[in-house]
Amino acid sequence: MNGNMENIEHIGIAVKDLKASKDVFSKLLNTEPYKSEKVESEGVETLFFKTGETKVELLSATNENSPIAKFIAKKGEGIHHIAFAVKNIEAEIIRLKKEGFILINNDPKNGADNKKIAFLHPKTTNGVLIEICQEKES
Ligand code: ZN
Repeated sequence: MNGNMENIEHIGIAVKDLKASKDVFSKLLNTEPYKSEKVESEGVETLFFKTGETKVELLSATNENSPIAKFIAKKGEGIHHIAFAVKNIEAEIIRLKKEGFILINNDPKNGADNKKIAFLHPKTTNGVLIEICQEKES
């Protein structure tokens, strides 16, 4: 089976204060988040909003060593990553490596929202952190 990118599954936004940002995005999208999830191993706390076919993932740091804390210290709040849905994440990782992209995760790891995920290094994607994600079969 060939791997291929599909729609933008979600956009990840790094925020300092999850509570304050929850209010901002609830007003903006006129909907409440449908899920909140802490991924302690990644040092992140997340909130998910759904609008149409796309989701917005707010990410805040749970500790100062969190990649989100480092991102905000360096670049400030804002768009952190763009996530594309894929049907076969293992095949897609192989395809992307063959194309010369640097993968941060050579093997898929567990992400929030019941997903297997992998990140591409922004060095090979014009400064944009790209995530690929596949829904886990439950
Ligand atoms: Zn994400």
